[in-house]
Amino acid sequence: NKFIFVTGGVMSGLGKGITAASTGRLLANAGFDVTAVKIDPYLNVDAGTMNPFQHGEVYVLKDGGEVDLDLGNYERFLDIDMTFDHNVTTGKTYQHVIEKERAGDYLGKTVQIIPHVTDDIKRRIREAAEGHDVCIVEVGGTVGDIEGMPFLEALRQFAHEEDEEDFLLTHVTLVPYSKNGEQKTKPTQHSVKELRSIGLQPDILVGRCEDELAPSTKEKIALFCDVPTDAVFSNPDVEDIYHVPLMVEEEGLDEYVMDRFDLTDDALPPAER
Ligand code: ADP
Repeated sequence: NKFIFVTGGVMSGLGKGITAASTGRLLANAGFDVTAVKIDPYLNVDAGTMNPFQHGEVYVLKDGGEVDLDLGNYERFLDIDMTFDHNVTTGKTYQHVIEKERAGDYLGKTVQIIPHVTDDIKRRIREAAEGHDVCIVEVGGTVGDIEGMPFLEALRQFAHEEDEEDFLLTHVTLVPYSKNGEQKTKPTQHSVKELRSIGLQPDILVGRCEDELAPSTKEKIALFCDVPTDAVFSNPDVEDIYHVPLMVEEEGLDEYVMDRFDLTDDALPPAER
């Protein structure tokens, strides 16, 4: 299994989900079996009880699971059917851990966020990924939110447990324009610093901006955030979100990912790569 985790910095609603789904689409185009997991760091067990005016549609899966609307994006972008297990929430995880505690399954141990909750998060991700070549895991919310901390800690552990060529972390941030028309990288620098403070170093940075990132903006982000310049991609405003996969393909996101995953041996069919 290969895993691509996608986190977001600066603010929500940046296009993290669309970036994650687009990355998956490009890998699916290259012949890989791609699935996705959406992590929602709220205490609701599922989205079924949530006000659609506040949160958007409650998306209903084929198995009856009531989930976040982002799973709809994944089903449409990747042309797959997902199950309730592909949406991991804080509520679901804690409910399971507490039920196990009540049943005495922890054999008298003190039940803690680390390792019991983080182990349960990692188990859920690995089970959802089983049988697929690549699993895209989108971590909802913004890096630095208290709610997201157990998930980011699970992610940190995950990175250590997987081989280097099986794990990638993509961080999506905002690149705003200043009044004098400059693309500003400071919010990106700060959110990467926030990630690093919890032991995570992104492999790929995606800048959401009104336009494509200028080469000088990419160089600056690369220098300050410690990634190669060709690991910095743009996600510019588009009229139709189905253009996003094409935009990131033009910048070579798929090639970069496959290269890092050691999947570029074109001579082999996907199953044997
Ligand atoms: P996040 O996961 O960061 O909260 P989403 O991927 O759900 O963000 O996107 C938030 C909103 O922005 C959605 O309505 C989505 O359609 C829109 N969006 C995402 N990427 C783009 C883009 N490149 N251009 C225009 N709209 C976009």
